Amino acid sequence: MNSTRNTLQREIVLQEICQIQGHATADMIYDKIHEVHPSVSKATVYRNLRALEKQGKVMRIEVPDGADYFESKKQEHYHIKCTCCGRIFDASLPYMPQLLELEQAADKDFSFSAYTLLFEGLCPYCKKIKTNKSE
Ligand SMILES: [Zn+2]
Ligand SMILES: [Zn+2]
Repeated sequence: MNSTRNTLQREIVLQEICQIQGHATADMIYDKIHEVHPSVSKATVYRNLRALEKQGKVMRIEVPDGADYFESKKQEHYHIKCTCCGRIFDASLPYMPQLLELEQAADKDFSFSAYTLLFEGLCPYCKKIKTNKSE
Protein backbone atom coordinates (compact mmCIF):
# COMPACT_ATOMS: atom_id res chain seq x y z
CA MET A 1 0.00 0.00 0.00
CA ASN A 2 2.63 2.44 1.07
CA SER A 3 5.77 0.78 -0.19
CA THR A 4 7.84 3.97 -0.59
CA ARG A 5 7.42 4.78 3.06
CA ASN A 6 8.18 1.17 4.04
CA THR A 7 11.36 1.17 1.98
CA LEU A 8 12.40 4.45 3.54
CA GLN A 9 11.82 3.18 7.06
CA ARG A 10 13.76 -0.01 6.31
CA GLU A 11 16.60 2.13 5.01
CA ILE A 12 16.59 4.18 8.24
CA VAL A 13 16.75 1.02 10.38
CA LEU A 14 19.57 -0.47 8.29
CA GLN A 15 21.56 2.77 8.39
CA GLU A 16 21.23 2.95 12.15
CA ILE A 17 22.54 -0.61 12.60
CA CYS A 18 25.52 0.15 10.36
CA GLN A 19 26.25 3.31 12.35
CA ILE A 20 26.12 1.58 15.72
CA GLN A 21 29.22 -0.49 14.78
CA GLY A 22 28.66 -3.22 17.26
CA HIS A 23 25.71 -4.96 18.77
CA ALA A 24 22.42 -3.41 19.80
CA THR A 25 19.02 -4.63 20.92
CA ALA A 26 15.87 -3.63 19.07
CA ASP A 27 15.09 -1.18 21.88
CA MET A 28 18.52 0.45 21.64
CA ILE A 29 18.09 0.80 17.87
CA TYR A 30 14.62 2.23 18.34
CA ASP A 31 15.84 4.80 20.88
CA LYS A 32 18.51 6.02 18.45
CA ILE A 33 16.09 6.26 15.54
CA HIS A 34 13.44 7.93 17.67
CA GLU A 35 15.81 10.82 18.45
CA VAL A 36 16.00 11.72 14.75
CA HIS A 37 12.71 10.29 13.44
CA PRO A 38 10.07 10.63 16.17
CA SER A 39 7.35 9.37 13.81
CA VAL A 40 8.89 5.89 13.46
CA SER A 41 7.19 3.53 15.91
CA LYS A 42 8.75 0.71 17.89
CA ALA A 43 6.62 -1.82 15.98
CA THR A 44 8.04 -0.49 12.71
CA VAL A 45 11.60 -0.91 13.95
CA TYR A 46 10.89 -4.48 15.12
CA ARG A 47 9.17 -5.39 11.85
CA ASN A 48 11.98 -3.98 9.74
CA LEU A 49 14.63 -5.73 11.80
CA ARG A 50 12.91 -9.04 11.10
CA ALA A 51 12.63 -8.21 7.40
CA LEU A 52 16.30 -7.19 7.19
CA GLU A 53 17.28 -10.41 8.94
CA LYS A 54 15.31 -12.42 6.37
CA GLN A 55 17.04 -10.50 3.59
CA GLY A 56 20.38 -11.42 5.13
CA LYS A 57 21.39 -7.79 5.73
CA VAL A 58 21.27 -8.03 9.49
CA MET A 59 22.39 -10.73 11.89
CA ARG A 60 20.51 -11.60 15.04
CA ILE A 61 22.34 -12.82 18.11
CA GLU A 62 20.20 -14.82 20.48
CA VAL A 63 21.05 -14.19 24.10
CA PRO A 64 19.62 -16.60 26.69
CA ASP A 65 17.54 -14.78 29.33
CA GLY A 66 17.89 -11.51 27.47
CA ALA A 67 16.80 -9.51 24.47
CA ASP A 68 18.18 -10.45 21.06
CA TYR A 69 21.01 -8.31 19.72
CA PHE A 70 21.42 -7.21 16.14
CA GLU A 71 24.39 -6.21 14.04
CA SER A 72 25.07 -5.48 10.40
CA LYS A 73 25.90 -8.53 8.33
CA LYS A 74 29.49 -9.65 8.26
CA GLN A 75 31.29 -12.99 8.37
CA GLU A 76 29.91 -15.58 10.76
CA HIS A 77 31.49 -15.25 14.18
CA TYR A 78 30.95 -16.12 17.82
CA HIS A 79 30.08 -13.75 20.60
CA ILE A 80 31.08 -13.01 24.16
CA LYS A 81 28.59 -11.72 26.69
CA CYS A 82 29.93 -9.78 29.65
CA THR A 83 28.27 -11.13 32.79
CA CYS A 84 28.85 -7.78 34.50
CA CYS A 85 27.75 -5.02 32.07
CA GLY A 86 25.77 -7.29 29.73
CA ARG A 87 27.45 -5.98 26.60
CA ILE A 88 28.03 -8.23 23.58
CA PHE A 89 31.45 -8.49 21.95
CA ASP A 90 32.82 -10.31 18.92
CA ALA A 91 34.97 -13.33 19.78
CA SER A 92 38.33 -13.66 18.00
CA LEU A 93 37.96 -17.42 17.61
CA PRO A 94 37.50 -18.37 13.95
CA TYR A 95 34.08 -19.67 13.00
CA MET A 96 33.95 -23.47 12.83
CA PRO A 97 31.32 -24.74 10.42
CA GLN A 98 32.71 -28.26 10.86
CA LEU A 99 31.25 -28.36 14.38
CA LEU A 100 27.87 -29.04 12.86
CA GLU A 101 29.23 -31.92 10.78
CA LEU A 102 31.07 -33.35 13.79
CA GLU A 103 27.90 -33.26 15.88
CA GLN A 104 25.91 -34.76 13.03
CA ALA A 105 28.40 -37.61 12.82
CA ALA A 106 28.22 -38.11 16.60
CA ASP A 107 24.42 -38.08 16.86
CA LYS A 108 23.22 -39.63 13.64
CA ASP A 109 19.61 -40.04 14.84
CA PHE A 110 19.20 -36.27 14.78
CA SER A 111 19.10 -33.94 11.83
CA PHE A 112 20.97 -30.76 12.65
CA SER A 113 20.57 -27.43 10.94
CA ALA A 114 22.37 -24.91 13.13
CA TYR A 115 24.10 -24.27 16.44
CA THR A 116 24.69 -21.29 18.66
CA LEU A 117 27.70 -20.63 20.79
CA LEU A 118 27.96 -17.79 23.26
CA PHE A 119 30.91 -17.23 25.56
CA GLU A 120 30.40 -15.56 28.91
CA GLY A 121 32.86 -13.74 31.11
CA LEU A 122 34.15 -10.33 32.15
CA CYS A 123 34.92 -7.81 29.43
CA PRO A 124 38.24 -5.88 29.63
CA TYR A 125 36.50 -2.82 31.12
CA CYS A 126 34.67 -4.72 33.86
CA LYS A 127 37.73 -6.85 34.55
CA LYS A 128 39.74 -3.68 35.12
CA ILE A 129 37.14 -2.24 37.49
CA LYS A 130 37.01 -5.48 39.50
CA THR A 131 40.82 -5.65 39.69
CA ASN A 132 41.07 -2.05 40.88
CA LYS A 133 38.40 -2.59 43.52
CA SER A 134 40.11 -5.59 45.06
CA GLU A 135 43.41 -3.70 45.45
ZN1 LIG B 1 31.55 -5.67 30.95
ZN1 LIG C 1 29.20 -9.64 16.32
